[in-house]
Amino acid sequence: MDKNSRIAIIGGGPAGLSAAMYLEMKGYENYVIYEKTDHVGGKCHSPVCNGKRYEMGAIMGVPSYYAVHDIEKFAGVEHDGPKLNRNYKYPDGRPDYRWDTADAMKSPLKFFLKHPKSAIHLKKLAAQIKKFGEILETTYKGYDVTGHIGVAQGKYKGYAVSEAREPVEGENPNLKDLSMPFNKFCEKVGCPLVQEVWIQPFTSFGYGYFDEIPAAYVLKYLDFQTMMNFVNVNLWTWKDGTQSIYERLNAKLKHAALLNSNIEKVVRGEKVTITVNGAEEVFDKIIITAPLQVATEKNPLDNPVAKTLDSWLDVTAEERELFSKIDYERYDTMAVMVEKDKYPDVSYYIVDNMVPERLGHLMVYYRRWEGETDQPIVTYALRHHKTANGGKELGYEETKKTVMEDMRKVGATPDVTKANNGLLYEFQTYYFPHVYSEDYAAGWYDKVEAMQGKNNTYYAGEIMSFGDMDETCEYSHDLVERFFAD
Ligand SMILES: Cc1cc2nc3c(=O)[nH]c(=O)nc-3n(C[C@H](O)[C@H](O)[C@H](O)COP(=O)(O)OP(=O)(O)OC[C@H]3O[C@@H](n4cnc5c(N)ncnc54)[C@H](O)[C@@H]3O)c2cc1C
Repeated sequence: MDKNSRIAIIGGGPAGLSAAMYLEMKGYENYVIYEKTDHVGGKCHSPVCNGKRYEMGAIMGVPSYYAVHDIEKFAGVEHDGPKLNRNYKYPDGRPDYRWDTADAMKSPLKFFLKHPKSAIHLKKLAAQIKKFGEILETTYKGYDVTGHIGVAQGKYKGYAVSEAREPVEGENPNLKDLSMPFNKFCEKVGCPLVQEVWIQPFTSFGYGYFDEIPAAYVLKYLDFQTMMNFVNVNLWTWKDGTQSIYERLNAKLKHAALLNSNIEKVVRGEKVTITVNGAEEVFDKIIITAPLQVATEKNPLDNPVAKTLDSWLDVTAEERELFSKIDYERYDTMAVMVEKDKYPDVSYYIVDNMVPERLGHLMVYYRRWEGETDQPIVTYALRHHKTANGGKELGYEETKKTVMEDMRKVGATPDVTKANNGLLYEFQTYYFPHVYSEDYAAGWYDKVEAMQGKNNTYYAGEIMSFGDMDETCEYSHDLVERFFAD
């Protein structure tokens, strides 16, 4: 490709900004990033309260976040944030010691004498985790590479986490199993208990329930190495918030994102003509990191922050057919000021609320700043499952009330003497776009990958790999490597 090609990038979140960075690194400098809001970062959103930034979107990374590390180097950013820690509670506020592995590891005998049932269970769980790790590395070799190219056909191609980001390629028919829901996959490999551990950073962080999400997504994100970093709380955070990573990246790019860009229309032919804020701009190529979902009657896109793709792009029949299969998670966060003497000592997971029967309940409450009682606590809840609540999405306002009530039950009482009864900020998102097992197994990803480059169009962002910072940025890296020659 001609290095002077004029490239439009739609979206100034991690995927769009990192695509620009990797393009620049290869000498493609003639790009424009269009961002529809008044800030960059997308779901890495870190507002300020009393002089400190808190997190409404992405919070953490792990040492195997290689692409995020590329950005840190490029933009001069350090993961210098507060240390994360967590504990567990039952929904009624009692402490939950079932996964209190720190105590068990410090003194196994003492732990056994105090909690014999938990000790026996933890031993079984540890054995299954070990076995699961071995099975993933051998039977499912190639499971942890970037993106989903070939997986449904029993192949792999991309950057492997387990091999310290080496590009790898090969065939492994067992990988076809990754299209089944994660609960079925765990049962098939004889390790059903591992779900208790994988669920904690998965469902609680809005990525849906294990009976409906294909194992491929769960394991692209929580590959064995990443999962062990979560277990050992070996996590990265950023003092100025995850948004600051992308603000700093944006400031270092040759062309900062154009904010408040309203893309009205895109027409593709020999060239790509974009109507933005009333003016026409002509490009050679377009990279789309905005939501690709096309709405249908059965699967409407009734989301306050996402537009259906066909409202601004001249979608082809093939794009319409494939992108109408995408669904997303209804996952929103609230920042709540709590009564000063109820400010939690750490963050808490409420694992019993991470099941479809408890849809709409508080799954995690996150305390970012230790001892800073003038800082908000952030709440996380899901509002949709294919069968719970008759398959109907729970109402946004109704869920807010449930979550506030749950906060009281677990003892992080909202401070109703503050404005808005303590509710400081709300963040509604278009979260974790994905397809379901049937479409995954039928080769959805291979069909979309085969469209890359057609009509001068490339697709990136969360749906192409997974909805976390590193998978999205690593996919942008992979895309640039594959299609934009040195
Ligand atoms: C509550 C929460 C917790 C999370 N926790 C973590 C975590 O701890 N670790 C982690 O790694 N990840 C986490 N994530 C996920 C991570 O934030 C996302 O996966 C990542 O931001 C995705 O990047 P993206 O660029 O693909 O999409 P986004 O971040 O959604 O960015 C897309 C951008 O495109 C813009 N846009 C959309 N449509 C248009 C259009 N038509 N025209 C122009 N611009 C458009 C949007 O405004 C946005 O800025 C979390 C997210 C949330 C919400």
